[in-house]
Order: sequence, then C-alpha cells, then structure tokens
Amino acid sequence: MITENEKQEKLNQIAADIVQNNICPDLAKTAKNLVFGEGSPNAKIIFIGEAPGRFEDETGLPFVGAAGKFLDELLASVDLKRQDVYITSIVKYRPPKNRDPKPDEKAAFWPYLQAQLEVIAPQLIVTLGRHSLNCFLPKAIIGSVHGQLQQWHGYRVLPLYHPAASLYNRSVRQTIIDDFALIKTSL
Ligand code: URA
Repeated sequence: MITENEKQEKLNQIAADIVQNNICPDLAKTAKNLVFGEGSPNAKIIFIGEAPGRFEDETGLPFVGAAGKFLDELLASVDLKRQDVYITSIVKYRPPKNRDPKPDEKAAFWPYLQAQLEVIAPQLIVTLGRHSLNCFLPKAIIGSVHGQLQQWHGYRVLPLYHPAASLYNRSVRQTIIDDFALIKTSL
C-alpha cells in the first residue's frame, strides 16, 4: 500500500513537472504562483474548479477568495473540512483579468489533472462549474445535470454549479446548497 507521504511526494513531482515542462508559458509569465491543489492525498472526494483567481494567485492556494469562503461553508454543511478533501482546478495558473480559460489551456493541464486523480484515487469527483464538468463530459449541460451523479472512466462524478455563481444569484446559491447535501449519500 502506498503511504500518504509517498502520495504527497508523487503530487509534488507532478507540480514540479508542470513547471519543468513549461506548461502554458504565457499564463506562467503573468501569474504569481502555480495553484496546484491542496488537501489530503488520501481524500475520498476531490473538488475541481476552473482556474485560480486573484487571491489564489497571490497565495498559491485554491479557493481562498469569496467563492472559497462559500465552499468552506458548504463543506461544513456536510461535516467536512478542507483537510478532509482535495481541492484543485483544471487550469493551474490565473488567466489574466480572470478571463475564462481557453480550450488549449484546459487541454494543456488535463494530463496533469489526470495524474493527480491517479495518485489520489478519489471515490467521488465533484466538478465545480461548467468548464470543469465539460472537461470530463463534453456534452453535458450544467443546468440539466447538476446534482445528478454521472460516470466517467470508472469514477463517479457529481456536477455542481460553481460557488462563484452563487455570489450573484440567490436561487443558484440554494441549488448548490441542496446539491451539496448529495455528497453525503454519494460516498
Ligand atoms: N475558482 C476556481 O475555479 N478555482 C479557484 O481556485 C478559485 C476560484
């Protein structure tokens, strides 16, 4: 059995490979930090967002801005802490001015996300927002499949709206809260 420390070392190596292989050099040039991911290498649940924003770029940690505060509240609502899960995003450098990540940027980081998944081997992948969902299930429409378990290459995938979407829309906020409760029964 691979130990938690060994898993962490493998994750560190994947992060080092992103830098070494010069992935998305334009984004790397404007970003302050690589935001690789945070949490337990033994996590049963991995949360996958879209791309880092300003505060994530400054700290090197995923989901530490306003959307991240809401994610912390959602985790607490199902008795989870950040240390119990693993949190990352598809694209691991901040796109300038928080623009949407481009298809070639998502594609460039995709093999590294798959490597992270192989090491962590979670029981549940929770996609946050449509960019993350569509990397796994390109044809799925977030408005139709949110809160419904999907299958992807032997993994269970639970699509959720992005917590940032709830900051401007109360009904999306309630939908995310309701969908999040499914995490408890999905393990
Ligand atoms: N939004 C994301 O998708 N990822 C982060 O890390 C922060 C905000």
